[in-house]
Amino acid sequence: IPTTHPRVYNIHSRGVTRYPANSIVVVGGCPVCRVGVLEYCFTFLGIFLAIVLFPFGFICCFALRKRRCPNCGATFT
Ligand SMILES: [Zn+2]
Repeated sequence: IPTTHPRVYNIHSRGVTRYPANSIVVVGGCPVCRVGVLEYCFTFLGIFLAIVLFPFGFICCFALRKRRCPNCGATFT
């Protein structure tokens, strides 16, 4: 019985966006998943201090902010 199945070539190399070999860490990019872009999020304590200790509380607010990845949910200080 002859095999009539068409041979599929290049199934792995099609439609795959290849990143450069040298993995440059994008500024603001997530180092965990390398997909999401880290965005700053202020903690409740930081916002609270910014209001109470205005205007110096903004220093604490920026100091207490964290960077969070919306893709995988990883947080970085
Ligand atoms: Zn991520």
